[in-house]
Amino acid sequence: MDLGLRNKTAIITGGTVGIGLAIAEGLAAEGANVVLAGRDGARSEGEAARIAREHAVSALGVPCDVATADGCAHLVASALDRFGGIDILINNAGTGSNETIAEADDAKWQYYWDLHVMAAVRLARGVLPSMRSRGGGVVLHNASICAVQPLWYEPIYNTTKAALVMFSKTLANEVVKDNIRVNTINPGLVLTPDWIKTAKQIAGEEGYEAHLQAVADEAGGMRRFATPEEVANFFVFLCSAKASYSTGSAYFVDGGWLKTI
Ligand code: NDP
Repeated sequence: MDLGLRNKTAIITGGTVGIGLAIAEGLAAEGANVVLAGRDGARSEGEAARIAREHAVSALGVPCDVATADGCAHLVASALDRFGGIDILINNAGTGSNETIAEADDAKWQYYWDLHVMAAVRLARGVLPSMRSRGGGVVLHNASICAVQPLWYEPIYNTTKAALVMFSKTLANEVVKDNIRVNTINPGLVLTPDWIKTAKQIAGEEGYEAHLQAVADEAGGMRRFATPEEVANFFVFLCSAKASYSTGSAYFVDGGWLKTI
């Protein structure tokens, strides 16, 4: 199936590991040029060089902090400078939290607001002129099942991801006339290196697999973690011309964890 992605240019925030890296690989496998953003410069540049080599596309690593206005501006300017335009923006950078509402201070709320919401706002402002001048584009947001089904230990994560889903819907309404499609994907459990590291810290080298299985059992549904590729496939499809009637929606890729319809 030709997904119509050859020679498109895609920015993937947090494209250097985990789900974001799998999305970048998936897009590059379809012939898209990719821009990988992450704070760790060596990792963003190293993964970009590897993807360019393995998929025969152009790839650029941009070290930047998308939780800041300067970082977002630098990312957009770097992508435009290298590729001359942007067709796809994947707002994927994010991280879990751990707190109670009673104890978390304003600074922590502000950081997650900047990372999960303002990055998407600022990057949308940055890329829309280019997408409009190219006659269209795609913006995808990686939120979480926690945007609608909260986990008790991460109220800041739940709240800022819910805000991101509403931002996505509102942006979709604003740019539908410009042939720019905007959607959200809400993943469930996805086995990234970070999950493995945390599980090893909690349960040790011997017990981490059992710990992860217990997490998956508690979620129910398929009772397993997704691979990053299983989630990335959905992103790649939504970026493609095959998803041409899809905008303004939130899609769950959660193995049946969601308890509602
Ligand atoms: P990882 O922790 O594996 O990777 C996070 C990526 O984001 C890295 O590339 C990291 O690079 C980058 N990043 C983090 N903060 C910043 C920042 N301030 N500026 C620029 N880049 C940043 O995450 P996952 O792959 O697990 O998750 C990706 C997204 O998917 C997140 O938004 C997460 O909330 C969401 N998600 C994940 C699920 C899961 O089970 N894994 C489930 C549901 C949603 P660096 O550290 O170098 O900056």
